[in-house]
Amino acid sequence: MMDFSPTEEQQLLIDSARNFVRKELLPHEDVVEREDWIPDDLYAQVKQRALDAGFYAANIATDFGGGGLNALDFTLMEMEFGWVSYALHYIVHRPCNILQAGTPAQIDEYLKPTVRGERLDCIAFSEPGAGSDLGAMSTRAVRKGADYVINGSKHFISFGVRADYVILFAVTDVLDTPRGKRNEVSAFLVDKGTPGFSWRKGPACTSHRGYDHAELFFEDCRVPASRMLGRPGEGFELANKWLSPGRISLGALAVGRARRVLELSAGWAASRKQFGQAIGKFQGTSFKLADMYTELAAAEMLTLRAAWKHDRGSMTDEDAASAKLFATEMLGRTTDHAVQIFGGMGLMNTLPIERFWRDARLERIWDGTSEIQRHIISRAILRQVER
Ligand SMILES: Cc1cc2nc3c(=O)[nH]c(=O)nc-3n(C[C@H](O)[C@H](O)[C@H](O)COP(=O)(O)OP(=O)(O)OC[C@H]3O[C@@H](n4cnc5c(N)ncnc54)[C@H](O)[C@@H]3O)c2cc1C
Repeated sequence: MMDFSPTEEQQLLIDSARNFVRKELLPHEDVVEREDWIPDDLYAQVKQRALDAGFYAANIATDFGGGGLNALDFTLMEMEFGWVSYALHYIVHRPCNILQAGTPAQIDEYLKPTVRGERLDCIAFSEPGAGSDLGAMSTRAVRKGADYVINGSKHFISFGVRADYVILFAVTDVLDTPRGKRNEVSAFLVDKGTPGFSWRKGPACTSHRGYDHAELFFEDCRVPASRMLGRPGEGFELANKWLSPGRISLGALAVGRARRVLELSAGWAASRKQFGQAIGKFQGTSFKLADMYTELAAAEMLTLRAAWKHDRGSMTDEDAASAKLFATEMLGRTTDHAVQIFGGMGLMNTLPIERFWRDARLERIWDGTSEIQRHIISRAILRQVER
């Protein structure tokens, strides 16, 4: 039976994550927002404190030096980290868990130093011509002797500015299938500084200021075959196996942010007076709070349920997709209600409400748009009845 009342250990984790967020991250939100960049000294300070406190790489197995949290505990922790700006949260890095599929040599050279905070990864699927439809990617890696030669480009790559290597997905073969030609995709570990690999900072983004993203370019970039992560053609399989917890994590972060938005909105509704009384006395305002509360509770349940099932090995793609879909759409509605409750002040940059509203917009797009999540869910429903 599902029971999400936290154990004593989980409560300790929640409390210490909450304290860390309030003490080490929250005070820096305004500077990151203003500068749209995390100053290097601040970055180094937050990273060190996260390493010391054990929050860094909490998603990676203890065998590799990580925190080894299971999905449910990780989700409870991420709900606390969702309170704060995503750029700051991201310093408390979660190395891409796909690295755990590496060979012993790759684990020593990439995963372990990343867990220790000595190296930084980014993950590159998206291309200007391939977003939701990743199978259409055009970056190619062609085997030449002991190497692969890579040509193509990627964009929107989170942390591509600070990262020192990329987990790159590229087409290694084109297969003839009964449904036509299909790209076979493989994953590679490519270091910055490899000849033929260049990058530049991506355009300014409306959401999540201070959170960098980059465009990556590969021109006859040669990497040894030993840098392939997984087997040839296994790229999407690896991605699907390892990355679905990422969707739960986005659900958790949306829940955390919505908790903060609801708290601020309730405080404003109780104190702002118009027509001689607090605006929270008008049902037009108070019912918004009721809807925010109810949707938040539902998103919390869906997200925790997906994590709980993940730990039991019974999570389906549609479990993770529905948590991501509902929680991120809930956050969109919640931040929109918040702007309405705050009135004109909701749009002024002297309060964080307009930022939450802007930030929320991205959540419905990355890591699979809302439409793609709906596609995953509806496909699963229909498969059950189409047999
Ligand atoms: C700030 C930021 C950071 C990112 N970080 C990374 C990263 O680190 N690594 C990485 O690889 N990618 C990253 N992405 C890319 C992100 O995952 C894509 O933006 C996302 O998958 C959508 O692709 P797209 O933007 O090309 O939109 P498109 O795929 O062009 O979609 C446009 C619209 O068409 C709709 N659509 C497309 N296909 C269908 C369909 N079959 N059915 C119904 N509707 C459909 C979409 O839902 C959307 O509404 C990032 C993006 C941003 C903005």
